[in-house]
Amino acid sequence: MLYIVSTPIGNLKDMTLRAIEVLKSVDLIAAEDTRHSGILCKEYEITAPLISCFEHNEDARAKQLLESLRLGKSVALISDAGTPGISDPGFRLVRFAKDNGIPITVIPGACAAIAALSLSALPTDRFSFLGFMPVKPGARKKKIEEAARIGGTVIFYESPHRILKSLKDIEEVLGDPVIVITREITKKFEERLEDKASVLLAHFTQHEPKGEFVVLLSFPS
Ligand code: SAM
Repeated sequence: MLYIVSTPIGNLKDMTLRAIEVLKSVDLIAAEDTRHSGILCKEYEITAPLISCFEHNEDARAKQLLESLRLGKSVALISDAGTPGISDPGFRLVRFAKDNGIPITVIPGACAAIAALSLSALPTDRFSFLGFMPVKPGARKKKIEEAARIGGTVIFYESPHRILKSLKDIEEVLGDPVIVITREITKKFEERLEDKASVLLAHFTQHEPKGEFVVLLSFPS
């Protein structure tokens, strides 16, 4: 069995009882960053061997893990935070396991996009997740236009290094809409801000952007 296991997005107490139980029971844990996940494992006295499975070795690892799975071993897949495969490695391993007849199951839990949506107070009846804002300005602007075309509530991940650029582009492309920014969800400095893009741009120009960001826009459906 391949278990896809969600882990916390900040607060270590957001591990589910099933996640702990499964990670304690499996033969192997495929982790994005074994050092990072080592902290979580130590906290919960999880002793299964960790092997790395990240973007650049995922295909090779998938083949290796398939061998272990075929020998009857159980494997859990985790990422650094939240749900594997959601702007994180995992999709290719899961697909490969499925295509090779390996049983798959999921241990659901934290996901920043869904946590941000709940916290946003924006409509939740129709939403889209567009992953990270593209790094290149042209592609970023196109993605923002695409968000408006899709409609409903649109969710983006963003890094503190690029949030100012994204806010500027949102202001430019969409004519300064009201947006919601959620930051550091489940952590000490968790924050939810709602204002025009230009106001939030001024705010983060004065206060250095720090931590992890989710940007949410709401369009008529
Ligand atoms: N797999 C993860 C999930 O399920 O949410 C996402 C991993 S992705 C590499 C990391 C991005 O998720 C961050 O740059 C940020 O946009 C968002 N994120 C993760 N943790 C967060 C948190 N505690 N608060 C706000 N955003 C977070």
